Amino acid sequence: MIIAGRVDVDDLPRICPLLSRRTNPRYGESQTRVVEVGRVRFGGERPVVIAGPCAVENREQTLEIARAVKGSGADMLRGGAYKPRTSPHDFQGLGLEGLKILREASQETGLPVVTEVMDVRLVDQVAEYVDMLQVGSRNMQNYPLLVEVGRCGKPVLLKRGMAASLCEWLGAAEYIAKEGNLEIVLCERGIKAYPSGEYSRYSLDLSVIPAVRAETFLPVIVDPSHATGVAAMVESASRAALEFGSHGLIIEVASDRLDAVKPKCDAAQAITPRTLRKIIHFVETRQEYLAERLHVASA
Ligand code: PEP
Ligand code: MN
Repeated sequence: MIIAGRVDVDDLPRICPLLSRRTNPRYGESQTRVVEVGRVRFGGERPVVIAGPCAVENREQTLEIARAVKGSGADMLRGGAYKPRTSPHDFQGLGLEGLKILREASQETGLPVVTEVMDVRLVDQVAEYVDMLQVGSRNMQNYPLLVEVGRCGKPVLLKRGMAASLCEWLGAAEYIAKEGNLEIVLCERGIKAYPSGEYSRYSLDLSVIPAVRAETFLPVIVDPSHATGVAAMVESASRAALEFGSHGLIIEVASDRLDAVKPKCDAAQAITPRTLRKIIHFVETRQEYLAERLHVASA
């Protein structure tokens, strides 16, 4: 039976000739194209850790978390100024004011910033304030938005749609690449599965990481926070992601002060700066171990 629109990975050279390994033999079987955001190198020598609040709620909260994640050793800051929320009655983000706060937090800590852009009309505004633009899961197939971020001159973090196949995800990345922007980092953030929501928010698809790395030369990172929705699972999910070949992590962090106000969104999945430090310690010691093993093997 022939089904309209059905594709599989063997169609990738046609769907995304700019990004498929098969149509770009200069990257060989395993070379990753490094994406630079300031001094941060995705797909470089060591995994990148992005951390910060789910949403920019106010100046004090954002500066406090930015300093804390910097102190924990994070490479980049995250935080939403425009938030995609299930209910239009929920906190939607501070918008332009949030972007200004992010810029201040970035200048103070020296950490580059990534934030989500949801609206084609706001791509230039967001690009003016931050170092990397995020296209969220809900917008992975918003093709006009992909075209616009492809033209914005800034690197793009492209999250996987929550029900997207690998082909759909790489096809979405190709829209950005077609506009001349190859500075794309992919992000697995959990997919909808039958039991999703019962014991975790989404289902972290670890197997997609080696598949992405086999099919494209773009770096790929993992969001253990949205994938699990449970703070207690974030550390193990982070370790597992690295073991599966992830080039980095993007993690939501909240204040650990006893008198801190509960985050307005995604509070249950936010880890403390202390847990973040443990995850980054794992990343670093794992790198040392791998470097040592390589050294022994080549001696
Ligand atoms: C986010 O990172 O703030 C976010 C909303 O993630 P996702 O698009 O993966 O749900
Ligand atoms: Mn969130």
